[in-house]
Amino acid sequence: MEVLNNLLKLISEPIVQFFLWVAVLFIIASVFLDRKISFWVSSVGATYFWIKNQDPLVALRAWLVVLSVFTVVLMIKYLFNLNVVLLLKGRKRCPMCFEEVHRKAKVCPHCHHTLRSEEKGVEREKRML
Ligand SMILES: [Zn+2]
Repeated sequence: MEVLNNLLKLISEPIVQFFLWVAVLFIIASVFLDRKISFWVSSVGATYFWIKNQDPLVALRAWLVVLSVFTVVLMIKYLFNLNVVLLLKGRKRCPMCFEEVHRKAKVCPHCHHTLRSEEKGVEREKRML
């Protein structure tokens, strides 16, 4: 019961409601659209709705949270050469074809490159430079 009360208290926070709106819009949009496009549709749509109907400061605070998390992920990526997103997905990037492969894969399923265990995978950004 205590957990449920805390959960209800958390959901009643405006910033949490903002993120729930983004999540619901993302789920609806991803039925029809590509994942990246749905992300932008949901985040811009929720921000627009919030600024029009709710407190704009909540949307601003939510975006500050998103930017802080994004900054931390990028800092980890460049300081420690570690891709947190891929790590959480249990995957690594093939150094030959730059496709995502399973963390424990020994041969890339896309280009058949033999992956050594010390090859942690490379970041997508390096391909773009
Ligand atoms: Zn490959």
